[in-house]
Amino acid sequence: MHREDFPILTQQVHGKPLVYLDNAATSQKPLCVLDAITEAYSTWNANIHRGTHHLSQVATAKHEEARTLLAQFIGANSSREVLFTRGTTEGLNMLAFCFGEAFIREGDEIIVSALEHHSNIVPWQMLCQRKQAVLKVIPLRDDLKLDLEAFSQLLNPRTKLVSVAHVSNVLGIINPVEEIIRIAHAHGVPVCIDGAQSAPHLPVDVRALDCDFFVCSAHKMYAPTGIGLLYGKEQWLNQLPPYQGGGEMIQHVSWQGTTYNELPYRFEAGTPDYVGSYAWSVAARYMQSCNIASIAAHEQELTAYAEQQLQQIAGIRIYAAGQPKAGVLSFNIYDGAGKLIHPFDLGALLDQQGVAVRIGHHCAEPLMTTLQIPGTVRVSFALYNTRDEVDRFITALRRSLDILL
Ligand code: PMP
Repeated sequence: MHREDFPILTQQVHGKPLVYLDNAATSQKPLCVLDAITEAYSTWNANIHRGTHHLSQVATAKHEEARTLLAQFIGANSSREVLFTRGTTEGLNMLAFCFGEAFIREGDEIIVSALEHHSNIVPWQMLCQRKQAVLKVIPLRDDLKLDLEAFSQLLNPRTKLVSVAHVSNVLGIINPVEEIIRIAHAHGVPVCIDGAQSAPHLPVDVRALDCDFFVCSAHKMYAPTGIGLLYGKEQWLNQLPPYQGGGEMIQHVSWQGTTYNELPYRFEAGTPDYVGSYAWSVAARYMQSCNIASIAAHEQELTAYAEQQLQQIAGIRIYAAGQPKAGVLSFNIYDGAGKLIHPFDLGALLDQQGVAVRIGHHCAEPLMTTLQIPGTVRVSFALYNTRDEVDRFITALRRSLDILL
């Protein structure tokens, strides 16, 4: 699918054609996005807002048009509900801080799940430590799906917020977030969805989901690094205090005190990444032009094909085998004596053959502890990957095993 739009993919690594299967970590960028960055810096770069001069007005318009487009992309009611951040991690830290300041008191409870990325764990732990609140965890069932019965039992009048991943960055499982939101709302509890791994792979509609907050990162969505967004329902954002102080987030500043700007600027202190937002809007339009449902179908087909090919390998253990996955697949291989072949060894040998995969705990150490493994090998797909690349990956994996066993 549109592979020719991605110049980086034509290169050789260690003398072999690159097979890039590390898209869950970050995706490659199409020419239109690279061109957008060059265009911005060559023709209209100027600091935005408050500028009376022409370039500043152009830059401001590009940034705000990008916000509007991204609001539509995720199905938000209004662009006021889209706050630009540095990425998913900053979005979650921002929410933990602001929501924590407004609503969390000693003894309150926050719920996350057992398969979260560290960025959806540690900010909540820090908040709990600050406020003497308690972090509760939705456990996994034996099939690695979230245990929704246990979740229902965790909810109680002290529960103030639920924050869960839409798609697991380790297992590729699509969590039943609609049901989680429905159950939480029945108890009057708001829900934050970590969409770092769903926004690149699935059509996202925050209004249809009815989530209260949603976070994602541009760099996993064919756009540059350093920008992301925190979506929040307006009625929630209006109740939260600012995150950082500085320029742009204020209405008036005097020695007597400061009044704050309106949404979304109240949460955006300092010069924002207006080139990043513009390039992200170009990437989002690019995804739309490829048809996001077609991207999802293509990636799910590749994941299923890779899973089927991996199943032929002796000693393979695929996590969440047989379950629908959004472009992410994790596995380990055990030798004839049942000993784990270390993912690091496989990752290094695959790299020598030009195949880029990710190995390790994938910033999900608690999940690794649950699975009782040090890490996994993870392959993850994007719209430009092909069945031929899956075949080359499998051939390279078999060669690696011949060397190791
Ligand atoms: N949550 C999930 C599920 C992720 O996969 C990632 C990125 N690996 C993050 C959060 C953090 O994203 P970022 O590093 O872009 O802030």
